[in-house]
Amino acid sequence: MSTPSPLSARLFWLTGLSGAGKSTLALALQHQLREAQWPVVLLDGDRLRQGLCADLDFSPQGRRENLRRAAELSRLLLEQGQLVIAAFISPLRSDRAMVRNIVGAQQFVEVFVRCPLAVCQARDVKGLYKKANSGQIPQFTGISAPYEAPEAPSLTLDTETASVQACSTALLDHVLQGVRR
Ligand code: ADP
Repeated sequence: MSTPSPLSARLFWLTGLSGAGKSTLALALQHQLREAQWPVVLLDGDRLRQGLCADLDFSPQGRRENLRRAAELSRLLLEQGQLVIAAFISPLRSDRAMVRNIVGAQQFVEVFVRCPLAVCQARDVKGLYKKANSGQIPQFTGISAPYEAPEAPSLTLDTETASVQACSTALLDHVLQGVRR
């Protein structure tokens, strides 16, 4: 793999329900690109919520501001030639459109990490669905807050039916096509 130029830097934006597989696939992709010595930064929604965005709640306004900061941070990184992988539930189309506007449509690549709610609930990786279903977490996406699937994603990964390995390979292939275009 040859190193991308700043012009070909892209933001790969992974959206999907909690537990759909965004972090898993984002980490795998980061690992693959690092091995090839590509300049890559991973922004994970859960991590941003622990620091940079720790002051925000999960209201529509809080979520929008969370994503605005992620998008502005991505823009700075893209300007410096970094490939950015972002893993955020980002449930609303209008908020994802805001991200696209901030970084520029050419740079924004939307990846839908698709998994039915029932499967995400069965996985319940972080125990959050159990809490959300018992009312301990308000405004939880899929339970008490909406998720709007992308209408025309650049790539869709079906994590219910395809393995982590298969999804990772498809994602890497898509990234390589994108940065060479
Ligand atoms: P998210 O970041 O979307 O909240 P996570 O990546 O934290 O989700 O958790 C997804 C869970 O689903 C992990 O336990 C992962 O091993 C599992 N999983 C099963 N199949 C897949 C797949 N094809 N892609 C990604 N994760 C998968």
